[in-house]
Amino acid sequence: MKPLSERLRVKGREFKLKNWDPDSTPGCKDKEEALERTAANIARIDELQYRLYAEGRRSLLIVLQGMDASGKDGCIRKVVSAFNPVGAHVHAFKVPTPEEVNHDFLWRIHKVTPGRGEVAIFNRSHYEDVLVVRVHGLVAEKEWKRRYTVVNDFERHLSESGTSVLKFFLHISKDEQRERLLKRLDDPSRHWKFNEGDLDERVRWDDYQRAFRDAVAHCNTPHAPWFVIPADHKWYRDLAVSEIVAETLEQLDPKPPKVKLDVKRLAARLRRK
Ligand code: ADP
Repeated sequence: MKPLSERLRVKGREFKLKNWDPDSTPGCKDKEEALERTAANIARIDELQYRLYAEGRRSLLIVLQGMDASGKDGCIRKVVSAFNPVGAHVHAFKVPTPEEVNHDFLWRIHKVTPGRGEVAIFNRSHYEDVLVVRVHGLVAEKEWKRRYTVVNDFERHLSESGTSVLKFFLHISKDEQRERLLKRLDDPSRHWKFNEGDLDERVRWDDYQRAFRDAVAHCNTPHAPWFVIPADHKWYRDLAVSEIVAETLEQLDPKPPKVKLDVKRLAARLRRK
């Protein structure tokens, strides 16, 4: 069976979002199978991240993008639970602060890319600078178009410096978004998650879909591929992301450095006291 990394990977720069069904679950029969495989993936990730950290040479950057309520937080809770906090960190990118606005758009991003042996997970990312910024006309068209090249150069630089970059677009349908937002309204314990601004963004759904389509198409490269994750089913979303992360780490096959210890002498020393 084709691995999910192959099925869900965007091929080349020809990309049509309407060809991807957010309700589909390619390569997985049902929820029961998904939960089992996800648990196995999480165990694989746990072991592989330990080796990546011990090796201390390379790193992994995971970028999560998607519409509001597409499940970025949920996915992070699930998949990130696989990572040991020593050597992994999550960054959520919000509306830029005045200091951030005063710099080039990659300034705040580059500062928090993963160090050697580390994993970083971005909840939103530099892609906001070609998405929300475009939809709201925050910069001129010429500028957000220029950024595609800047982003590709930046990601190539990361990759050539030893960072594998995986980019996930959590793809939900407009109906599913409505259901999720309504659920937040129905449940007082989720009211903190409800943001009326999300309704204003929802009105711009088609503009966002166009912006996503173009960002994925222009910035899908061999060194930093995009994966479109059908995300109407949370169990499928978690399966797909965890499996692609596990596959990637397996391909990296990190190896702790070989250290020559004089075990006999050290043990004897320990036993003396
Ligand atoms: P989230 O929706 O991620 O849980 P928030 O409700 O705080 O968290 O939303 C973050 C907001 O910050 C989003 O509306 C997003 O579009 C916005 N944002 C992120 N990066 C930028 C950026 N570079 N320029 C403008 N807005 C941004």
